[in-house]
Amino acid sequence: MRSANRSRLRMLKRFSFFISIVVVALLLALIFFSIHDEASVLTYARKQIPLPTAENPNFLMQVMDCFLPTAAVYGYDLRITAGFRSFAQQQQIYDEGRTEDGNIVSEAPPGHSLHNYGYAVDVVDRLRGYDIDWAQLIRIGQYCSLESGGPGDLPHFEYRGGLTTDQFAEGMRPPPLTLPCAVMAERTASSSPLTMSDLNACGAPKF
Ligand SMILES: [Zn+2]
Repeated sequence: MRSANRSRLRMLKRFSFFISIVVVALLLALIFFSIHDEASVLTYARKQIPLPTAENPNFLMQVMDCFLPTAAVYGYDLRITAGFRSFAQQQQIYDEGRTEDGNIVSEAPPGHSLHNYGYAVDVVDRLRGYDIDWAQLIRIGQYCSLESGGPGDLPHFEYRGGLTTDQFAEGMRPPPLTLPCAVMAERTASSSPLTMSDLNACGAPKF
């Protein structure tokens, strides 16, 4: 009897030892995979998608060689009031009217504006201010492949090429744009103004 009891006890001990090994192994696996996951995300965020530090050159070319000169032919003297904005700068203007004094000036927290990725500009007319025929300017923007900020943000023009802001945040970018007309690059290179006959030859919208 006593030896039977003893061997049952030994088996029980072995069994509980085995169970605790399995539990510890499972815990270790869980910890390893959670750390591993976190590390790869951080590596992804840090190395593969460095935050932009300036306006995207291709987007800027579209603005400087197409949008502003075409608008100028139709009598606008546009000035860019905002271009690239870092996450820190975006945070500052997002805080205005929220945690800082003043009126709310932006609905976009850092990372939620295309200004943060170098794919947006805000414009104003040097003489007319915001007294602009927006429908006309939006069509000029479309001609240059720029999208309007819409009724809530008329001075804002951007290029997202079908991407969501979340996709920009993940590191995706739209395909590069080309100018609607080769003469635009020539005019910029020779510092000579674009003309109405250039625009007619380039298939620009007529007003
Ligand atoms: Zn804007």
